[in-house]
Amino acid sequence: MKCLQCESTRIVSGVRPVDHGHGGNMYNLSLEVYANPSAWLFKEAHSSPMLANVCVDCGYVMFYVSIPEARKLEQQKERGEKR
Ligand SMILES: [Zn+2]
Repeated sequence: MKCLQCESTRIVSGVRPVDHGHGGNMYNLSLEVYANPSAWLFKEAHSSPMLANVCVDCGYVMFYVSIPEARKLEQQKERGEKR
């Protein structure tokens, strides 16, 4: 794997991006899609936790989700588009 910015191969992979919320709670950053985005309450969300690769030489951060999670996001998006 190469850094997209400086092409270094010194990468720390699988780093968990965390939001330090109020009261010391920690939340994984995630991506969400909705099968029913216009619903008031039940939007039928699918949430995929993000991970990051960090370049040791320039600090560039590359976010990603696992391939199974990327497919789940696609499926949920398609469910919404078929309505
Ligand atoms: Zn870099």
